[in-house]
Amino acid sequence: MVYIVTRRKSKPLFATFVLTFSVLMKKILITGAAGFLGSHLCDRFIKEGYYVIGLDNLLTGSKDNIAHLFKEPNFEFIYYDVTKFVHVPGELDYILHFASPASPIDYLKMPIHTLKVGSLGTHHLLGLAKDKGSRILIASTSEVYGDPLVHPQTEDYWGNVNPVGPRGVYDEAKRFQEAITMAYHTAHDVEIRIVRIFNTYGPRMRVEDGRALPAFMSQALRGIPLTVFGDGSQTRSFCYVDDLIEGIFRLLHSDYSQPVNIGNPAEITIRQLAEEIIALVGNPEVTLSFKELPEDDPKVRKPDITLARKLLKWEPKVDRSEGLKRTLDYFKTVVK
Ligand code: UDP
Repeated sequence: MVYIVTRRKSKPLFATFVLTFSVLMKKILITGAAGFLGSHLCDRFIKEGYYVIGLDNLLTGSKDNIAHLFKEPNFEFIYYDVTKFVHVPGELDYILHFASPASPIDYLKMPIHTLKVGSLGTHHLLGLAKDKGSRILIASTSEVYGDPLVHPQTEDYWGNVNPVGPRGVYDEAKRFQEAITMAYHTAHDVEIRIVRIFNTYGPRMRVEDGRALPAFMSQALRGIPLTVFGDGSQTRSFCYVDDLIEGIFRLLHSDYSQPVNIGNPAEITIRQLAEEIIALVGNPEVTLSFKELPEDDPKVRKPDITLARKLLKWEPKVDRSEGLKRTLDYFKTVVK
């Protein structure tokens, strides 16, 4: 009884408080909110006291990644495809454009949608940013460097991309995305930030997304051979998701409009990664099964993060042994 009376009395006060607070709150739109990176960004910005509008068409994302946010008063979700005209009512301080199929098997399955989300989707969000006076940060990628001839990759390297190869739909969409974003900055004075994201891993990666790390973890947990493409001598450099999110958070709040690499420069071969995961899972009977190397698969990849270190005072903190442990804890809960 007392509880009910107290609740009734305090409700208008609470509502006023929420209203006042939400007017003062910075408002951010995050596309791809139900994806791996998008969902971690939603968590971070909610934790920092932002009002977050998460937008996703759930093509590759999952509501499971953001289910815990539905109880938050400063979170709302919009089911939407950014390749269509985007409208969000009211003021908007920031936009983070993270919607896109992002694993090689996803963009091979959805080549046209991948091109559309990077081109038409980015155009719509830049239009929205221009209209609202929002600062927009777009998720670019190390794929803009293609199969790189410069190693490690610095931001001033223009890349080595095959536009008509199987990866071209993603690489060229992201290169176009950078170009149109820069054009909105120079032609319309839109405040832009461009992050070039290198291989990132952590909880909420999709078990079946086909990328090396989730594939190896789920195979090792199931006790079946790990599918290493080629001879496994190709290299990648893996960044734990929390480090990446910190880098993006700092970049958004910086005053720098040119592209910035965010990634962990600790480079390993894919074979080494497979062996580390087998050792971590503790299943030494598991073997490697060598498969054909996909066309245009980059031979090396490692970010030069000199710029991020200097500009953002940022560098990765979570080393691979710790990051893989945390990721394995997650995969144990989702691998059947
Ligand atoms: N790879 C592999 N086995 C798999 C999936 C991927 O050996 O089951 C290889 C792939 O050919 C590439 C590297 O691992 O050389 C990283 O692939 P991923 O799809 O994770 O990301 P990419 O960096 O190529 O976008």
